[in-house]
Amino acid sequence: MIATQIANRGVRNRRVLAALARTPREWFVPPTLAADAYEDAPLPIGNGQTISQPFVVALMTAVLAPRRRDAVLEIGTGSGYQTAILARLAARVATVERLPDLLVEAEARFRRLGLTNIETRLGDGARGWPERAPFQGILVTAAAPRIPAPLLEQLAVGGRLVIPLGDLATQELVIVTRGASGWTERRAGGVRFVPLVSSLAFTEPVEP
Ligand code: SAH
Repeated sequence: MIATQIANRGVRNRRVLAALARTPREWFVPPTLAADAYEDAPLPIGNGQTISQPFVVALMTAVLAPRRRDAVLEIGTGSGYQTAILARLAARVATVERLPDLLVEAEARFRRLGLTNIETRLGDGARGWPERAPFQGILVTAAAPRIPAPLLEQLAVGGRLVIPLGDLATQELVIVTRGASGWTERRAGGVRFVPLVSSLAFTEPVEP
């Protein structure tokens, strides 16, 4: 998987590849799909949600580029696979999921892997986790129509937010960097994620 689906397609960050190599993906999919765990595709994990394709996890992680001392926030725990990869790279990971069934399963996987630097929260991730902010990295693994303003606020100066923006059909990966005097944005190509479901009004345009 790492050689053919990830390194061959341009993600060569050694820390990211090592984190993937140490994390058994078959533990993160339903037992009936264990044989497909290393396929080049997203897979259903129940509740209408999916575990992302391996390449997408690698790409998002490489773009976020967490350092060993960083505090990272992930929105959309899902299976917990992306969380586990982040936990191997950063000092601590806070992850928020809105569906209790998925969160309970993900927490069991973190225990099984002995990952003790992950904190989980059930709730609306569009609101971030203000009590744990600021974060040097924020990774959103569900697509939003706009950047939720609380996430911009909870980003540390010098930090990076990676989020898929768009509707169900067309989404683009957006990378926001917070500098001393404001936020700058760049785009990093098309992606496809399940929607971010939030009670937060996305109607207020947030111009970084
Ligand atoms: N990172 C996951 C991908 C999960 S798919 C993995 O590696 O498996 C996206 C997840 O985002 C789903 O589990 C979905 O329930 C969750 N989600 C959607 N809207 C959310 C919100 N507002 N807050 C928190 N989680 C949300």
